[in-house]
Amino acid sequence: MRIALLTAEAVPFAKTGGLADVAGALPKSLRDNGVDSFLILPLYEQIDRRHLRHIALDHVLVDWMGGKRPIRVWYSDAAGGAPAFLIEDQGYFGRPGIYGYRDDHERFAFFCRSALEIMHHLGAAPDVVHLNDWHCGFAAVELFARRYWDGYFRNTRTIFSIHNLAYQGTFDPGDLRKLGFGAQDQVDAFLSNGSASALKAGLWSSDALTTVSPTYAREIQTPEHGNGLDWLLRMRSSRLIGIANGVDYDVWNPQTDPNIPAHFSVDDLQGKRECKRELLRRFSLPENLDRPIIANISRLTSQKGFDLIQQAAWRILETGAYFIALGAGAQVYEDFLQTLRDHAPNQVGIYKGMNDSLAHLVEAGADIYLMPSQFEPCGLNQMYSMRYGTVPVVRATGGLEDTVEDFNRARRTGTGFKFHPYSAHSMLEKIYEALYCYVEPETWATIQRNGMRVDHSWTAAARKYIGVYEAVSHM
Ligand code: ADP
Repeated sequence: MRIALLTAEAVPFAKTGGLADVAGALPKSLRDNGVDSFLILPLYEQIDRRHLRHIALDHVLVDWMGGKRPIRVWYSDAAGGAPAFLIEDQGYFGRPGIYGYRDDHERFAFFCRSALEIMHHLGAAPDVVHLNDWHCGFAAVELFARRYWDGYFRNTRTIFSIHNLAYQGTFDPGDLRKLGFGAQDQVDAFLSNGSASALKAGLWSSDALTTVSPTYAREIQTPEHGNGLDWLLRMRSSRLIGIANGVDYDVWNPQTDPNIPAHFSVDDLQGKRECKRELLRRFSLPENLDRPIIANISRLTSQKGFDLIQQAAWRILETGAYFIALGAGAQVYEDFLQTLRDHAPNQVGIYKGMNDSLAHLVEAGADIYLMPSQFEPCGLNQMYSMRYGTVPVVRATGGLEDTVEDFNRARRTGTGFKFHPYSAHSMLEKIYEALYCYVEPETWATIQRNGMRVDHSWTAAARKYIGVYEAVSHM
C-alpha cells in the first residue's frame, strides 16, 4: 500500500501543536509496519533549511486562479527517515508564521492543489491520501471530483483525520469560485451556516473519517462538542473511528532524552531529582526539592482550561507547591501568568513562547502535570508526563479520559487523577488528592511507576490506521 499524508505541520519541520507530533511520527510507524508512505507539507520560512536534502521537482506548474503558478519541491528525510516533500511558494509560505493570515484559506487551498499536482510526478498514485484537519479539506473535495476525470487518481481513496474540530477554516463562500470550487456540489460540500468551511468540506467528501481518540469520536457527535457539525458526524458515524495518538518514544524517552541533565527509568528514578533541580534553576526558583512542582505546557487557549487555572491559582499556591507554565497564545492568559509570577516570584515560573527543549525539561523535572482541558481531542502531554514519571491531573474528556486511569488507593492501580465536571472546585479536589499522595513517597512512586509502564507507542495506533487504509482501499 502507498499512502500520501498531507499536513500543515510536522515534527521536525514546523509545529504549533499535537498535529505536528502525529504527522512526524505516523509515517515512521507505518514504514515499520511495511507500509510505504510519504509526507507533503508547505515549506514555511521558519523551517530549518538544514532539514532539506535536495530539490525533488522544479518549476511544476499548478493550475491556479485561471493561470499557472510555478512551485519548487524539496525532498527531506528528516522526519525519522520517512520521505517528505516540502512545497516552496514564496508568496504563500515564505512568511514568518504558519497560520494567522487573512488569506489562510487561499494558502491551504493552493497547498492542496499543489500536493495533488506533484503526486503525478512522484510515481504511482497513492492508494490512500490521508488528510489532516481543515487545511486539507480542499484536497478531499478535489479528489472526489478528480476520480472521475483524472485517471491517475481513479483508485485513490481519502481518509480525513480530525485533530481538532474547533478549527474549521471558514471563509467567504464568494471565494469558492476563484479557488476552483465553483460547481454546485462543491459549493454544497463547503457551505456551513452561511460560511464556507474547509473542515466541513473534508468531513463531507472523504471516504472515511478518523479522530484522535475513541471518546472524542463520541463527543463530537453531540451538540456540546460538535461545533455545529455534530449532525454531519452522526450522519457519517459508520465511517468515523477514534484512534488514540501514540507517543514517539524516540523523542520522548527519559532514558535517552538529550534535553535533560540526567536520565532515569521506571527501575531507577534517581535522575529525576537532578532534572527537578535543573528545572527550578532554569526558572530562578528556590531549590527546595521536597516541594511538589505542578506544571503545564500548552497553547494558551480557553480549550486548555486556563479559566479554571485562573480561578484556582491562589488556592494552588496556598498549598506551597511550585507552579511552572510554558505557553504561547492568548494575551489575556499571558497577562494572567505574568501577574501570577509577579505576585509569587519564589513559587511561580513562566516561559512565554514555544520552546521544545524546555518542554522536555519540564516533563522530566515536574511532579504533577495539570491538564484541565475543556475539551481535548487526544492530548499528548499527559502521555509524555506518564513516561517521565510526572503524574497527570486531568479533566476526563476526549483523549484524557482514554489515556489516564484514575488512581485507586485501595487497589494501587491508576496512572493519574481525573476530575469530571468542568469546574475549578473539582479540579482543586483532584489537585489536593494528588498532593496528599505526593507526601507519601511509596504511594507516589507507585503512581509514577504505573504511568511509566504504560505503553502508548505508535505501534498499536499505526496498525489501526492501516486497518482503515485497507478498508477504504476496498471501497
Ligand atoms: P494541541 O495539539 O491541542 O496543542 P497536544 O497535547 O495534542 O495539544 O499537543 C501539544 C504539543 O505541543 C505537545 O507536543 C506539547 O509539548 C507542545 N507544546 C505546546 N506548547 C508548547 C510550548 N509553549 N513550548 C513547547 N512545546 C509546546
